[in-house]
Amino acid sequence: MNLTVLGGSAAGPNTGQGCSGYYVEAGGTRLVLDLGPATLPELRRHTDFRTLDAVVISHLHLDHTLDLGALRFALAYNPERPPARVPLWLPPGGRGFLDRFAATFAETGKESEFFPNVFTISEYDPAQPLIIGSARITFAPTVHYVPCWAIRVADDSGAGDLLYTADTGPTAELAGFAAGARVVIAEATLLEPTPEPFESRGHLTAGEAAELARTAGAETLVLAHLWEERGREHFRARAATSFPGRIELAHPGLNLTW
Ligand SMILES: [Zn+2]
Repeated sequence: MNLTVLGGSAAGPNTGQGCSGYYVEAGGTRLVLDLGPATLPELRRHTDFRTLDAVVISHLHLDHTLDLGALRFALAYNPERPPARVPLWLPPGGRGFLDRFAATFAETGKESEFFPNVFTISEYDPAQPLIIGSARITFAPTVHYVPCWAIRVADDSGAGDLLYTADTGPTAELAGFAAGARVVIAEATLLEPTPEPFESRGHLTAGEAAELARTAGAETLVLAHLWEERGREHFRARAATSFPGRIELAHPGLNLTW
């Protein structure tokens, strides 16, 4: 299993760092999880984006999806024509989201072909495993401001799974879903809880992210969805108080192989 971080910023890009996006190789299957602003340039450094096995989207917030538009142009107008359409897997409701996206950016009368020209578009059923090549992808609902799913990726190597929390608050029931994952990418948008009610808060503190990874028994925790204004190393320090394993701060090009 191989993970490359494409961004790692929270809702807005940090200096030289795009938002949410992860390139994953699972037993030779090449996936992208989320494709937020400014993640496509980093993806290009690591693989041929024209021949991905799938792009899988956790939820329909801009900071996890905006480069789908950039990827659409990069595929549609590339001088090296892609050999096939790229499979795009969206959460429930994703087709309507893409239709509205296309209605804004497509030329009049070409809305219906705008994304289908370059993507094979599907909505996944979060209750069912999604099998793509040698990757087995499962989903668990998070607590966020829109419907969102955490994503677990396994392959048949037995090397250990990748768990990506996507965006979530602390009351999502992710402990069982994350159990046994070897690498956990956990959002850690906050250093301290916000004044929101605990039950409906839609982001984690670094401490809560660390607790999730510790409970899962993970070997490595990648802290993600970070604001540089909060001081990146502060997130690591908070997480280190409860997670005993390896802690990495998400940044473009961070690579883990296991
Ligand atoms: Zn979000």
